[in-house]
This record gives sequence, structure tokens and C-alpha cells, in this order.
Amino acid sequence: NVKGGTEMLKKIKSKGKGKGDVGGGSFQSMGLHPSLLRALTLQGYRTPTPIQRATIPSLLTTPPRDLVGMARTGSGKTLAYMIPLVQRLGGRHAHVFGARAVVLVPARELALQVIKVGKSLLKGWRGDGAQHAGEGDDDDTKVGKGESLRWGLIVGGEGMDEQFEMISGNPDVIIATPGRLLHLIVEMSLSLASVQYVVFDEADRLFELGFSTALSEILARLPASRQTLLFSATLPKSLVDFAKAGLRDPKLVRLDAES
Ligand code: ADP
Ligand code: MG
Repeated sequence: NVKGGTEMLKKIKSKGKGKGDVGGGSFQSMGLHPSLLRALTLQGYRTPTPIQRATIPSLLTTPPRDLVGMARTGSGKTLAYMIPLVQRLGGRHAHVFGARAVVLVPARELALQVIKVGKSLLKGWRGDGAQHAGEGDDDDTKVGKGESLRWGLIVGGEGMDEQFEMISGNPDVIIATPGRLLHLIVEMSLSLASVQYVVFDEADRLFELGFSTALSEILARLPASRQTLLFSATLPKSLVDFAKAGLRDPKLVRLDAES
């Protein structure tokens, strides 16, 4: 459902210029972990969508760079931030305290979808060393070295006890709605001190739903050294202001709406 066409790109000095997926435009050329490439193939993702092509490589640079990604609904924004997230976190649970990534979304159903996409990238993950080649084995908690990334769902509608258990399980990635996340920070002393990678997904909806105060409060509690991404279908002024306050010299990837 993603038509390339003669895309867009207003402000991108794109690497894989023009159309097609040769060279800089393919998943294979992005320097991704072999297990991640394998998972993408297994899931049937053959070539990156335009927004993915324009964002993934620039999200993996050293030092990390902030980014604002704007593209219409259905253009593949979830993988645009989830592939770099999994790559940066190495696909494995870290036995250190605290989440390393936070994804903020406007609603519970979206949070569940996002976790599903994230987990799909960890199927059949293999560590760097020699592995038993378990053909067709897609138990993502057992294949490969170490334990798979742990995902924590922090959303309204869940009981507080469950939420407490969720954070006690030391997730690597927290997928959250802003109100509930802030509540856990304030009431349960959830620390975001080890967070390196922050995503505001469907940022326009986050603002429409009145989360702007909670978002600013959350921003204030995140380490300054984080990499921050904001994805949205539209870029109203409130969002531009928020991006100016919360992101550091972000790269702007803006794909013109099609249709
Ligand atoms: P957005 O967040 O921009 O609205 P999604 O991330 O929800 O878009 O993706 C929309 C659909 O496109 C999903 O069904 C997803 O599985 C599919 N998709 C995403 N990336 C690719 C890809 N590289 N190749 C094929 N399908 C893709
Ligand atoms: Mg989306």
C-alpha cells in the first residue's frame, strides 16, 4: 500500500537519490544486524518505503541525530523508527537497570501494534557467535545469544498493580501513553535516566488529545544526551514549537502527501 511514485523529499539530502532501491536505498545497504535483515525478509518487507529510506540510515549515525519525520498515514513510519531502535539496542535484553528506549503513542491499541511490530523484528534473532541453526525456529526468546528485548506496556486502562509489575520486570523498551507514563514517574518513581532513544509517534494526535503538558513534563525527565524522534502525519505549529523545545537540531524529513 505504499506507492513510491516520484516522491517527495523537500529537505532531504537523500543518499539513495531518486527512485529504486539500488545501493543506498535497500535494507541490505543500511548496515543492519544480519538477524534484523533476516527478520525483515521473514516478515515480507523487501524494500524500504520512502520514509524508511530517508530516515533509517540517518538515525544510525554516530553521534546520534534527532529527527522529525513527517509522512502520511500508512507510509511505514513504525518501522522507520523501530528498525533503528532494535539495531541500537542490539536486539537483546541488557542486564542493566532501566529502559533504554521509550516510545510515546496516543492510545493503547497503537501501543499494542507498535510492540507487535517491534517483536516481529526479533524473530529468529541470532547472536554474533556461532549458533545452533534451528531451522524455522521462531521462538524469539530462545534463539540467539541472550534474552530478547523486553517490552513494557504502560498505558491507561491497565491496573496499577500490573503496571508496577511491568516496570519491575525491567523492560528495555517502554511503549507508553503520556498520562500513564508520567503518573508512573511521579507516583512510582519510575526513572528514565538510562533512556537513550525516545520516539513521539503520531505526535499530531498526541497534541490533539491534550497530552502536551504531560509530554513536556516527560521531556524534562529524560536525559539530555538522548536521541529524540518525532513522527507525525501533519506538522501544526504546536508541534513545531514542541520539536524546537525537545529536539536538538533535528533533521527534517518531510514527504509530500500523496493522493
Ligand atoms: P504509518 O505509521 O506511517 O501510518 P505503518 O508503520 O503503520 O504506517 O505501516 C503501514 C503498513 O505498511 C503496515 O501494514 C506495514 O506492515 C506496512 N509496511 C511498512 N513498511 C513496509 C515495507 N518496507 N514493505 C512492505 N510493507 C511495509
Ligand atoms: Mg503510525
